[in-house]
Amino acid sequence: MSKWPLGVFASIDAGLGVNLDVAHELKVPTIHLHAPQKSSRTPERAKEFLKQLAEREIEISCVFAGFEGESYADIPTVTETVGLVPAATRAERVVELKEIADFAKLLGVDVVGLHIGFVPHDTSSPVYAEILAVTRDVCSHLKANGQALHLETGQEPADTLLQFLKDTGCDNLFINFDPANMILYGVGEPLPALETLGDYVRSIHCKDATWSDKPGETWGAEMPLGQGDVNMAAYLQTLDKIGYTGPLTIEREIPQEPERQKAEIGRALQLLNDLKQGATA
Ligand code: MG
Repeated sequence: MSKWPLGVFASIDAGLGVNLDVAHELKVPTIHLHAPQKSSRTPERAKEFLKQLAEREIEISCVFAGFEGESYADIPTVTETVGLVPAATRAERVVELKEIADFAKLLGVDVVGLHIGFVPHDTSSPVYAEILAVTRDVCSHLKANGQALHLETGQEPADTLLQFLKDTGCDNLFINFDPANMILYGVGEPLPALETLGDYVRSIHCKDATWSDKPGETWGAEMPLGQGDVNMAAYLQTLDKIGYTGPLTIEREIPQEPERQKAEIGRALQLLNDLKQGATA
């Protein structure tokens, strides 16, 4: 595949991403796929999905896991509900994450993406040790599938995340870098973070946002690509600097406004195409 193919977050059944027909109309060659619901994760459905993708000349570069009960309503709710950190749902979600990975394998996809949740910043806390243990367990399941796990950035500063990756000792654990999340959660300037995480960045989102006036306490605002504080031209230059050549996957999750979603993704594709020419010239 050529450098920086364009991509978009998509859903095959109900979900936050655009549907495959929109991705096809916009001529997007790669997608990050929201993991379909449990009832759709069967070998038969996998075959149907692969047929739909082949007809539209779309490749999945990553299957993104998500779980029932997760809510991104505000930052405290994310802490309580998202990923493998909340203790009450951890065991069942680890089981489901492995099922999602097995389904991704049926789709021929070797990357699973995950919002792991808020990893404690205090590495001596018991929860930190517990999250290390479940991450190793999940990574070993994925490794047997020939897969890697990509953690979505956002909930922790780059240094904390880097320490966590190293502490796991897993060689199939990497980063899905989302510059807007760094801003939305108020955990640091995205471009220096991207350089810090450098070698571990194996997939990325193209998303934009503006800072909250109370970073870390309240959300910043998600914006159409190019209208937030990320600086997309500098983002691509930094990706180039760290040697990233994979898909540029646009994330714009406003499924309640499908027309606006399609229009904004269309403009985002145009922007990235223009910038790609500039950044690689
Ligand atoms: Mg993202």
